Amino acid sequence: MTASRMEPDLATLLGPDASAILSAPHRNFIDGQWRDSLSGETFPVTDPATGQEIARIPLSGSADVDLAVASARRALQDGPWARMNGAERGRLLWRLADLLAQQTDVFARLEALDTGRPVFETRLVDLPGSIGMLEYMAGWSTKINGESIPVSAPGTFHAYTEREPVGVVAVIVPWNYPLELAIWRMAPALAAGCTVVLKPAEQTALTTLHLGRLIAEAGFPSGVVNIVSGEGETAGAALAGHGDVNAISFTGSTQVGREIIRAAAGNMKRVFLELGGKSPMIVLDDADLEQAVPGIASAIFFSAGQVCTAGSRVFVHERIYDRLLDGIVAFARNLEIGHGLNDATRLGPLVSAEQRDRVAGYLAEAARTGTHFATGGAPVDGPGYFMQPTIAVDVDPQAALYREEIFGPVLCVRRFGDDQIDDVVRMANDTIYGLHASIWTTGLSRAHTLARRIKAGNVCINTHNFFDPAFPMGGFKQSGWGRAAGFPAIEHYTELKGIVARL
Ligand code: ADP
Repeated sequence: MTASRMEPDLATLLGPDASAILSAPHRNFIDGQWRDSLSGETFPVTDPATGQEIARIPLSGSADVDLAVASARRALQDGPWARMNGAERGRLLWRLADLLAQQTDVFARLEALDTGRPVFETRLVDLPGSIGMLEYMAGWSTKINGESIPVSAPGTFHAYTEREPVGVVAVIVPWNYPLELAIWRMAPALAAGCTVVLKPAEQTALTTLHLGRLIAEAGFPSGVVNIVSGEGETAGAALAGHGDVNAISFTGSTQVGREIIRAAAGNMKRVFLELGGKSPMIVLDDADLEQAVPGIASAIFFSAGQVCTAGSRVFVHERIYDRLLDGIVAFARNLEIGHGLNDATRLGPLVSAEQRDRVAGYLAEAARTGTHFATGGAPVDGPGYFMQPTIAVDVDPQAALYREEIFGPVLCVRRFGDDQIDDVVRMANDTIYGLHASIWTTGLSRAHTLARRIKAGNVCINTHNFFDPAFPMGGFKQSGWGRAAGFPAIEHYTELKGIVARL
């Protein structure tokens, strides 16, 4: 398969506003100031559709992280932020949401360029999702109440609780949804009154660095949000191990999540983790295939499968197996592969050569051991880091392809018969992960009965990759700790204080 993609003229595809941002210097945002890394070093940003260098960003080290954390600490304790009430914080979050809404197209294009993901997606998901979360959390900032507690100790007491900001929060995000994930993690922290140091992933830092401009324009006091680009092992590790950071919110691989826990142990940071997944989808024989075919195909091919919740394993009842498989194979073959900035593109490249080679390695190993691909199975010829949308059938449940998080457009399909639903539940749950799952059926009671049996933070019925600012999102088992979104996210960024007075 070769991609029918055109060679992009980047400036034309990006448009004048996003082009101007791309060609301006990219700097860290610390204490309200734009700063190069202290060492002066930078590293390249590449366009994953071509492999060409398109910008350079600061290569920050631990000294830059120290500056950013000190700035966040000052803003937390001494600055105007510390004296603001919830309504004032909420207004700043709303203003940031408004500014982002005014620049939706610019951010959507920059994000598509940097991640390689289709601009169709960044417009549809990343920007509305970011704006929606800012607005939702702006609402919570005035509703972070304590409670009065009717205690039973002998005597007369007035006992109550209050919620205080947990302090300086480090936010480390991965490369797939840099802007949206940064905002999903920062918004509840800011609503709660915390200050933030954000480190975007080394592959995709353009939109989060640019976000600093909007944060300043919205009127957030200096130091409330600091943004530092750099590598995981240096800048990221410095942040995770920093003695003056109170909480860390990490989104990324389970492997690095473990390192974060170890690094956080030094000063007992509160840790929020949203990690990997190998999410199962179960299709019963009464599923509405008109809904299930595009739903299941999108669950794995959206963002080329580079989503922690991607539906990467599907179990299909044998009565509808052929129709469903034919449907998703046709969907895969019809995906328009191309540069993320083309409006028609539905499958962009993977983010980096490294990631493309990783996914290709899994596929080569699977092919070597006899896995059959109904479609795809290899990288796309030509420049850029494109992978064919791939559907592997009857995959051995012990194979790496089936067990490990691939982070690519690769779906493993298995069929089951009438008396095998218990086996399907066991197989769906037979993974170290437990992030997301979906069940496809028109039977109400079968759907909810199955939903109870799946060990995952989110179980979707007749949909997949469902996210909403009000809907708790997070993982069981090695998929993470804590829940993003909803009030649980606010709780994560607050300390609960009990106060008691003898009357
Ligand atoms: P992915 O597989 O999605 O790239 P990673 O877990 O490798 O996820 O990276 C997610 C984020 O974690 C990135 O911002 C990366 O720079 C950062 N990171 C990687 N290693 C470390 C580390 N040892 N300590 C802190 N952050 C890290």
